[in-house]
Amino acid sequence: MTKQILMCPVCRQSLDLNEKTWRCGQGHSYDVAKQGYVNLHVVQHKHSKNPGDTPESVDARRAFLQGGYYQPLQHAVVALLKQLDVKTVLDIGCGEGYYTSAMQQVVEQCVGVDIAKNAVQRAAKLNTEVTWVVGTGATLPVLDQSMDACTSLFSPIPQAEIARVLKDDGYLIVVTPASEHLYAMREALFEQVNPHTPEKFVEQLQDLFELKQ
Ligand SMILES: [Zn+2]
Repeated sequence: MTKQILMCPVCRQSLDLNEKTWRCGQGHSYDVAKQGYVNLHVVQHKHSKNPGDTPESVDARRAFLQGGYYQPLQHAVVALLKQLDVKTVLDIGCGEGYYTSAMQQVVEQCVGVDIAKNAVQRAAKLNTEVTWVVGTGATLPVLDQSMDACTSLFSPIPQAEIARVLKDDGYLIVVTPASEHLYAMREALFEQVNPHTPEKFVEQLQDLFELKQ
C-alpha cells in the first residue's frame, strides 16, 4: 500500500489520508479537491491569488506537448528512472503532468508538485495514480529522506529542499534549456535576449551533488 510520504507544510509531520482528507498528528488537515489534488500551499507563502501559469498558457502548452515534440525527452526521463531503479519520485514544477504521468508508469509512488493550481487541476484529471500537490519549492510537500529521485524539467531547482527530501543515495534529474532554446521566438518578443546558461546550474549544485553526466 501507499507509504506515508506527504509532509504537513505547517508542522512538518507526516500526513495520513483518511477518506478525502490528509491529516497530520497535530490536527492540521487538507482536503482533496474534487479534481483529485491536494493544496499544501500555505497561505503565508502566497504572493498572488493565482500564482503560476494562467489557464490559457496551461492549455497552450498542453496542446503543444500533445503534438509529441517532446516525447523523446519524456521517454529518456522514464528510461533513466528505470535504469536507476527509482521507486519514489517527486516531480518539481510538474505543470499539467506531461512528464509526471509517464514517470508514474515505472515507479511505485509518484508525487507531482506545482505552484500553478490551474495546471495541477488539469494534471489530476489525466492520471489518478499520481499524488498531485499544489505547493512550492520553498517547502517541498514530502518528508525528509523519502525520495529516491527528484526531477526538475525546465523548472526551478530548490536545492536545499531537494537535499532534505532525497534519500542519501538519491538522484536529482535536471533538464534545463540549452543556450539557444526558443531563441528566435524570444528574439521576436523581447528587446534584449540573453542566452540560457545551462552550465550554471551544475556549478550551483556541485556542493551538494555529484554530477553523473
Ligand atoms: Zn501539521
